[in-house]
Amino acid sequence: MKIALLSRNSKLYSTRRLVEVARERGHEIQVIDVLRAYMSIASHKPSIHYKGEDLHGFDAVIPRIGASVTFYGAAVLRQFEMMGVYPLNESVAITRSRDKLRSLQLLARRGIGLPLTGFANKPDDIKDMIKMVGGAPLVVKLLEGTQGIGVVLAETQKAAESVIEAFMGLKANILVQEYIKEAKGADIRCFVIGGKVVAAMQRQAAAGEFRSNLHRGGTASLIRITPEERSTAVRAAKIMGLSVAGVDLLRSNHGPVVMEVNSSPGLEGIEAATGKDIAGQIIHYIETNAKQGKTKTKGHG
Ligand code: ADP
Repeated sequence: MKIALLSRNSKLYSTRRLVEVARERGHEIQVIDVLRAYMSIASHKPSIHYKGEDLHGFDAVIPRIGASVTFYGAAVLRQFEMMGVYPLNESVAITRSRDKLRSLQLLARRGIGLPLTGFANKPDDIKDMIKMVGGAPLVVKLLEGTQGIGVVLAETQKAAESVIEAFMGLKANILVQEYIKEAKGADIRCFVIGGKVVAAMQRQAAAGEFRSNLHRGGTASLIRITPEERSTAVRAAKIMGLSVAGVDLLRSNHGPVVMEVNSSPGLEGIEAATGKDIAGQIIHYIETNAKQGKTKTKGHG
């Protein structure tokens, strides 16, 4: 097969692993920096050029599009879809999952367990908003944050009010969430491929920290998940329309709650924690599913 791998940096662990495994399995794979791709949009004849070359003949495309390039990256992926190339994750599903509010609304509508969450733009009554999500302690999150930056634990009513006011003053979009204290600083990353959880790891926050992000000093380890956690992760990925997803869960008193569904989950942490060949499973999934024109949306929507 001829595979396009959309990634801004060919030195990243996940990119390197996918290239290595695809070549081992006899495929041709080309890393394409999405920001460098340029496209022509003509009726019935979409094309993509890259470094002077007309890209064509691809059977599949693996999007690994960073949050900061979602807009342009999704447009390049959509162009591949319009050309009939099979996408591992579709552009529509990626943009859907990148919108945190939209994602939470979609998951809530389908009855997936979520931390009680409020969001607002310019609330006149911050006290009422805090009451609405059950009062302090609360987690206040910047919508645009990643890797735990912009996620604040407000332990008292007063702290919650001040943090919300400060973020509002900066005109930042925020989300206010019930603090799942019983998770004790741990979250679970479920790696889903094609409707199955193929690996799971627990991330534990460093001492004195509630955020378990590996970038914030968290440590990862292997974990056995419950059937309920497994089915929650699988359903969440399906609702988002993602074939490959990293579903982050917290263990709460009211069962597993989904924090986030990631459309470009990293391979380094999960392969190290579980010893599994996740890159190999991704390529295998493409081998069995990629067919010309087999995209649900063909770039619609
Ligand atoms: P990011 O997308 O920036 O990583 P998250 O929303 O995943 O932000 O939050 C970062 C970390 O903070 C999570 O991995 C989790 O450990 C902790 N956390 C986030 N929300 C909650 C919550 N409602 N209750 C308890 N811990 C939380």
